[in-house]
Amino acid sequence: MSNAAKAVRTLIIGAGVAGLSLGCYLRDGDFLILEKEEGAGGYLKQICNGDFSFDIGVKCIHASSSEVVHFVEEIVGEENLDRGYARSAYLNHGKLHALPRLEHPVQPLGKRADFRAYAFANYGELAESYMIPYAEKTWTAPASEIDYRAAVTKSKAPGGYLYPRGGMQELTDRMAERLGDHLRLHSKVTEVDPKAKTVKLAGGEIMCYQRLISTVPLPQLIRMIAGVPAEVGSAADKLNFNSMATVAVALEGCIGVEYHYVLVPERRYSFRRLSFPRNFSPGLVPPGRDSILAEVNLPRGERNMACDAEHRGDFIQAVLGQIAETGLLRACRVLGANLTWVGLAHIVPDFCWRPSLDVLEGFLKSRGIRTLGRFAEWKYMNIDDTILEASAISKDILGGRRIRPAAMEARTIQHKTDIARDSL
Ligand SMILES: Cc1cc2nc3c(=O)[nH]c(=O)nc-3n(C[C@H](O)[C@H](O)[C@H](O)COP(=O)(O)OP(=O)(O)OC[C@H]3O[C@@H](n4cnc5c(N)ncnc54)[C@H](O)[C@@H]3O)c2cc1C
Repeated sequence: MSNAAKAVRTLIIGAGVAGLSLGCYLRDGDFLILEKEEGAGGYLKQICNGDFSFDIGVKCIHASSSEVVHFVEEIVGEENLDRGYARSAYLNHGKLHALPRLEHPVQPLGKRADFRAYAFANYGELAESYMIPYAEKTWTAPASEIDYRAAVTKSKAPGGYLYPRGGMQELTDRMAERLGDHLRLHSKVTEVDPKAKTVKLAGGEIMCYQRLISTVPLPQLIRMIAGVPAEVGSAADKLNFNSMATVAVALEGCIGVEYHYVLVPERRYSFRRLSFPRNFSPGLVPPGRDSILAEVNLPRGERNMACDAEHRGDFIQAVLGQIAETGLLRACRVLGANLTWVGLAHIVPDFCWRPSLDVLEGFLKSRGIRTLGRFAEWKYMNIDDTILEASAISKDILGGRRIRPAAMEARTIQHKTDIARDSL
């Protein structure tokens, strides 16, 4: 990797899927991606336990448009992708039920409508048994405090999913390989000065830019910027989020569950979702073995309950006991279990979310800084949305000049049926 660059036309902070996709679209331009860690990938990094491989939470790429499909095929290679349609269900009183879809138009709600009102208006009795408890487990907040306009997103036509054989990290590893000297690791940005158009790295190096794109979590970016007005700092402080402990369980034997993931709204279980990695890609588990991933969402700051050395073992044992209670383990034997802590897991779209975001977006625009990605924009975005937005930003940067892979036809197949997102 190059250490020489002191001035660069386009500077991208962060080498998760957002920064790397943008880099791949820019390809040969004058740009540099700075990543603080020793490896690229961000949230797509894989957790390995012997021959078992896990994602951080359920992950797959929604094949929502031909541009996304072609982009991923080009990066990973068509032959290296598993494909399918994700099968999901929710658990209620020991039985699995198909996830409900909303066929009629969403009932109009007032401006300050909350998710609880939305669920009752649109889902009747399912609001109580499924929608509200699942939403509250996901956001670790009362559904009445959630802004339904942020929580309910347009669903996508069932275009299936793509999954790189070997794990989601294959996607970011292959992108990082292509980018060569355009990617600099171990390069943490500590300060941004939008007036001088410079960033400072840990270690003191200063770099100049003409255009800055940040993919780091929005509150972190605001903390890095020099001379932020008080109302902007206070808007950043109001952005709410929660954390998550994932318990990755390695099993002897095969579970034989047909679903990719099962949502668990019932409050007696600590986890909100169980997923079955083998169904996304058989290579994630060794032959004759299987695995389950449990996601336990926790309010931010409850790290000690899950991660302290003295609590960790008990936490894992409690989750294993509850997985056994669901009956989904079948005759499998537990070989081992690992816990991973995710400090920033879900954006919590409460009623401070939109007003705070308006202030922050206005401020960043006035300072000429663009953001890209779920946590940088503080919006519910998936990998496919991020790739499409990276493509759009690259077109702005290149002034309409299109190079592969951006040359692919952008035929989105989103449609407007409104459902409550099952993966939230
Ligand atoms: C539980 C869970 C399940 C999900 N499931 C799916 C799914 O099934 N499908 C889907 O499409 N999406 C899913 N997502 C969303 C998806 O994981 C994210 O949208 C995506 O991975 C975010 O990528 P990013 O590049 O925007 O951010 P990140 O991955 O956070 O990348 C940002 C990078 O910036 C680096 N960085 C931070 N600060 C600095 C600094 N100061 N200087 C330099 N570098 C810095 C970080 O190290 C990181 O590498 C899920 C997310 C979660 C949490």
